Amino acid sequence: MERRDPLGAAGPTGAVVAPEGPDRVPGVARTAAAPPPADGTIPDTDEQRIAELVVSNHILYDHNIFDGFGHLSVRSAADPAHFFMQRSGLVPDSVTSDDVIEYDQDGEPYKAHGRTGPSERYIHSEIYRARPDVMSVVHSHTDAVLPFGLTKAPLKAVLHTAYFLGSEPAPVFDTREPIGQDNNMLVDNAPAGAALARTLSARSVVLMRGHGMTVVGPTVHDTVFRAVYTRVNVQAEAEALKLGDPVFLNRFEVDRGDPVSVHWAWWAAQAETRLVR
Ligand SMILES: [Zn+2]
Repeated sequence: MERRDPLGAAGPTGAVVAPEGPDRVPGVARTAAAPPPADGTIPDTDEQRIAELVVSNHILYDHNIFDGFGHLSVRSAADPAHFFMQRSGLVPDSVTSDDVIEYDQDGEPYKAHGRTGPSERYIHSEIYRARPDVMSVVHSHTDAVLPFGLTKAPLKAVLHTAYFLGSEPAPVFDTREPIGQDNNMLVDNAPAGAALARTLSARSVVLMRGHGMTVVGPTVHDTVFRAVYTRVNVQAEAEALKLGDPVFLNRFEVDRGDPVSVHWAWWAAQAETRLVR
């Protein structure tokens, strides 16, 4: 399979060159964005943030976080109440910079020229509204995490690379609680999104019963790192539970962090190589 957007449009360095024409995202000049900061901090410009967003979609697909579903967003630098995310109707591995549109604080497409967003865009808008510290949000249907949203088994950090999960069980969101028994199990309206944000509270990861997970972070790099290592932690913990009682990280061990920029750049190079095939 070959991606529709070869590296000439958006590569691991984050350089983006957009075509001329009416499909450009209004308000975002898509010409030769500077590479994102090498230290993994959040870029200062929307062009750089969109460049990271595109590559990160490919990383998350490459690491089995995304399947045909899933979406990743980043808060706007120019208007922090707004955010950028892909339009509807795309599979994540095919997202290009031209597929990224701006959304307003209510999760509605902003000057999108008729293009629409994924039905669950309210996950993103309501978390950004509730969590000023969050700069990026990913929602996925990652199959590995599903059992922990279906049972009383607590998802907690068992790996040093998953310290962000904390020493308390990850919260589980159930659409029956805010909506009732008759629900479609989707977060496709603002009240459901607000309920999800309340369940997430100040945590990094919220599991979604019979659905998947949502992960947040202070940068796109951190959010990608957390999504990938949530899956790795889930798999290690699930295997350990078959053998006995897992040893979880204690409060001291989770109160730390790893530099993620090296991981992101490496994963980006791997994803872009593997997706052109
Ligand atoms: Zn979903």
